[in-house]
Amino acid sequence: MINKKIEFYSHGACREVTGSKHFIKIGDHIIQMDCGMFQGKREEAYKKNMELNFSPAEVSTILLSHGHFDHCGALPIAVKKGFQGNIYSTPASRDIANIIMLDSAHIQEKDIEYLRKKAKKYPDRGIEVRDPFYNSMDALETLNHFVTLNYHRKFYPIPDVEAEFFDAGHILGAAMICLNIGKNLRIAFSGDLGRKKLPILRDPETLPDLDYLILESTYGNRLHKTFGMAKDDLAEVVNRAYNRGGKIIIPAFTIERTQELIYILHTLLREKRIPDLPVYVDSPMAVNATSIFRVHPECFDKETYDKFISVNLDPFGFNQIKYVSSVRESKKINSKPEPAVIISASGMAEVGRILHHLKNNIENPANIVAIVGFMAEHTLGRRLVEGEKKIKIFGKKYEVNAEVKTLNAFSAHADYNEIKEWLLKNDLKRLKKIFLVHGEADAQHNLRRELLSIGVPEVEIVEYGQNYSL
Ligand SMILES: [Zn+2]
Repeated sequence: MINKKIEFYSHGACREVTGSKHFIKIGDHIIQMDCGMFQGKREEAYKKNMELNFSPAEVSTILLSHGHFDHCGALPIAVKKGFQGNIYSTPASRDIANIIMLDSAHIQEKDIEYLRKKAKKYPDRGIEVRDPFYNSMDALETLNHFVTLNYHRKFYPIPDVEAEFFDAGHILGAAMICLNIGKNLRIAFSGDLGRKKLPILRDPETLPDLDYLILESTYGNRLHKTFGMAKDDLAEVVNRAYNRGGKIIIPAFTIERTQELIYILHTLLREKRIPDLPVYVDSPMAVNATSIFRVHPECFDKETYDKFISVNLDPFGFNQIKYVSSVRESKKINSKPEPAVIISASGMAEVGRILHHLKNNIENPANIVAIVGFMAEHTLGRRLVEGEKKIKIFGKKYEVNAEVKTLNAFSAHADYNEIKEWLLKNDLKRLKKIFLVHGEADAQHNLRRELLSIGVPEVEIVEYGQNYSL
C-alpha cells in the first residue's frame, strides 16, 4: 500500500449525463478521467463549461475513455486554462476526439460570427456576443497533448500508478480505464459501457478484480431489445418502403450509428435480404468519421474480420453506397425518384442536411422515416417519434404522411440487465464499492437497487464536488 492519501471526486456527470470529469488524487498528483462538455439549457451549460470548479493547471494528466463530445468536448477548455500534462487515449479515440473538437470549434466560431453581425446590424437590441469556449486553433493545440496507446499496453501516467485500457464495446476506440495504485489498490472507470453484439465492435471486456468501480448509469432503469433485432428490423423497414416505391430516411449521429447502419446494410445486401437499392450517406462529417473507422481495423470484432477484412473487403464500401460531401450532390439526391436509403445528420433532426430530406419526403406516404437514436425533448426527431401529424421545417408547415418507425434495438449503452450481466462476469470478491456516475436520478436509484440485489456490498451515487476517500 502506498503511504499517500487517495481520494476520488467528480466535477461533472453527477446525477446527469453530460460533462464527464472524474478525478483520482494521490498525494500531490491528480489524474483526471474524461473532460466532457456539459450540454442542455444554453445559459446553464455556458456557465458550467466556462466556470470550472477546479484548476486544470493542477491536474497532472488526463485519461480519455472515448471520443464522444460529453467526454472529450471540454479538453481544449482545460488546455486553455493551463493544463500542461499528457492526454492518454487509444489511437481511435484520439482521432474521433479530433473531429469532435474541431467540429465544435467551427460551430462556436460560426455562432459568434452570426451574433457579431446581428449585434452590428441592431446595436439597440443589446445582443451579447460572448467569447467562444475555444476556437479551432485551441482544438489543434489540444491534439499536441495526446499520447496514444492501444488496449492492454500498460502505461504509467504518474508515479505509483500503472494504467491500462480495456475495450468498453461502446464506440470505436472506447475504453474502460483500469488503474493499479501501488501494489494493493485497483480502481476502474467504465467510461460508457457498451453492449454485446454491437456491429463492428468487440463485446465489453471483463476487468481484473477491483476494489472500486466508477460506473456509468445512463440506462439504469431501462431495458433494450437485443441488438441482433436491429438487423431484422432494418431489413423489414427497407423492404416495406422499397415494395411501395418509397425512400427510407434515417436521421443518424455521424459517429458510430452511421457506420453501424452502413455495416448492417452492407451485410443485408450481401445476404440478399434487401434489394439492390442506392444507399446515400449525406453528411460531410460522417464521411470523415467513416474514414477513421477504415484506418482502425484493430478495433473491429472477429465477425467483421472474418466477413470483411480477411477477404479484403471494405465494410464501409460497396457498389450501392454513395458518400455525399458537396451541397450540389446532396441536392441531386432529391431529384431521383427511385427507392433509396438516405442516412443523414443531425441525429435528432434539428439542423443539417437531414432537414432538406425530411422536407422533400415527409409528405409522401410511400416513404419511411426510421428513428434509430435517442431523441431529446423539443427536437424535431422527438416530435416525429411522438406522432405529430404536422411539423414545421424552415418555418414552413408539412403534413407527416410518411410512416415514422422507431427501431428500439439501436443503443450503444448497456441497459440495467446488461450492466448486471457484464458485472457478474467479473471477479467481484474484493469489490468494496461501486460509484455511480453519468445517469439521471431515476436511472441511478434503480441501478443502485439492482446492483445491491446481486451482492455488490456498497453503491454510492456520486455527488458533484464531494470527496470520497479510498
Ligand atoms: Zn459515449
